[in-house]
Amino acid sequence: MKPGNASTVADIDGAAIDGADVDVAIVGAGFAGIGMATQLRRRGRDSFVVLERADGVGGTWRDNVYPGIACDIPAHLYSFSFRPPADWATRFPRGPEIRDYLQRTVDEEGLTPFIRLGCELVDARWDAQAARWSLATNRGPVRARMLVLAVGRLSEPHIPEIDGLDGFSGTVVHTAQWHPGVVSGGERIGVVGTGASAVQIIPHLAELAEELVVFARTPAYVVPREDREFSAEERARLLDAGNARALREQLLLDADRAFAQRLRLVPDIDEIRDLALGHLAAQVSNPLLRQALTPDYEIGCKRILLSDDYFPALERPNVVYEPSALTSVVENKACAASGATHDLDVLVLATGFEATRPPVAVRVRGRDGQVLDDHWSAGMVSYASTTVAGFPNMFVLDGPNAALGHNSAIYMIETQLDYVLGALDYVAEQSISSIEVTAEAEAAYTAEIDERSAPTVWLTGCNSWYVDSRSNRLTLLWPGTAVSFRERNGTFDPAPYAVRHGESGEPMATPGGGAR
Ligand code: NAP
Repeated sequence: MKPGNASTVADIDGAAIDGADVDVAIVGAGFAGIGMATQLRRRGRDSFVVLERADGVGGTWRDNVYPGIACDIPAHLYSFSFRPPADWATRFPRGPEIRDYLQRTVDEEGLTPFIRLGCELVDARWDAQAARWSLATNRGPVRARMLVLAVGRLSEPHIPEIDGLDGFSGTVVHTAQWHPGVVSGGERIGVVGTGASAVQIIPHLAELAEELVVFARTPAYVVPREDREFSAEERARLLDAGNARALREQLLLDADRAFAQRLRLVPDIDEIRDLALGHLAAQVSNPLLRQALTPDYEIGCKRILLSDDYFPALERPNVVYEPSALTSVVENKACAASGATHDLDVLVLATGFEATRPPVAVRVRGRDGQVLDDHWSAGMVSYASTTVAGFPNMFVLDGPNAALGHNSAIYMIETQLDYVLGALDYVAEQSISSIEVTAEAEAAYTAEIDERSAPTVWLTGCNSWYVDSRSNRLTLLWPGTAVSFRERNGTFDPAPYAVRHGESGEPMATPGGGAR
């Protein structure tokens, strides 16, 4: 069978894909989409396509090329467990290394013929009659039995509402839209935000700028990063699959211990708070700056950042820490909530992503034409963080309650891949044409999430983008350890699903025997 099993699928890039009819359509070629494609391919399933709107693979690691981009999860944990170990240079991988790793995965797993670059999903509709997803893309229609949304949660830059931003006389750039020409040196640069992206880019921009102004609405908790290069001997040892697996296991369990902090358990939360405040005290000698950098909310409620060069950068003579939000812009003047104004040439928005409201949701219509964004009008809900009631034959990777603040996103993605593969096997074995989680199961899982979330720091510590402001529910993060996510959601169980065998018209039946 040809890749994509399509009647008129032409070549890989640029050509039309009219009439593609596949078993599985995967939307997105980041970690999740590439992981899904790898697993399908390895199982000999050749009838799939990966639709990718950009001109390259890599997702967030393709888009984020700002100076200093790196991962704050160790490389041997932030990589696929089912791939041969990569030769990582440092404990924490740099952005370009991760990008190369993903491209290499595509090449070595033979995925290129399945990937349609420059192919944006415009509309997805469930065709109940045919038990198919009917997709419209900018390169023509695609039909698919199964739809896997792997669009990530860090794919749509969040541009805050700042009066006059459009009229800024200089250059405005979001960190995820960085390009080499933005800064050449000697500019007056403003950075908006103090999240993970900001603390990585600020030390680099501080060296280039004539003046750098950091607009800090909320100071971050920062702990030592302690990155280091692996020795030649370590690199050789970690190329052995057994050694790499043992390190991965250890890193996973070590990182998972931090979940006790998110439950506000003592002494864990006190220890991490002391570590962060001690790091601040050790690195910032100016008492006024130190005071401005001291958070007034509980640690762990926002992502705890890792940096050894952020605080020192703020003490440089050419850096101004503006302890308030950027509220408006008039020509080249950036006005802070404090009333201060700063003349700038470049404004860098390190303001995060549209994570709680994934824009793709307005493009997806399930059973009876229901729009996914409407189903999620009070925030994302799901069953097993992967399937959604009313949206048959659809799986969402890295979506509702599938992220973590304290451990590896790749471990979570792999857990979801196992779940989806289990579902696909079940569908194939039982000759099922349509499978949909029941509304009751989704409601029960949502209640379970709420119960698990209640004691966590995310719901009791501060406002963060992990919480959907429409419902004040934790919709982004899994409120538990990474290992507990696998225990709960790593294995597909058909019980909460209604299924349809054969073609249209036959009633849906639950595996327990009931029809609906
Ligand atoms: P983010 O965590 O959402 O941070 C956005 C920042 O912008 C916040 O500090 C926010 O302040 C601030 N902000 C928004 N509007 C503002 C305004 N008008 N004035 C001043 N500040 C404003 O975004 P991010 O740093 O891009 O990180 C997003 C996620 O990407 C991370 O949590 C992580 O998952 C991932 N990431 C990971 C790494 C890594 O090393 N693995 C690196 C980069 C990103 P408030 O806090 O007050 O809302």
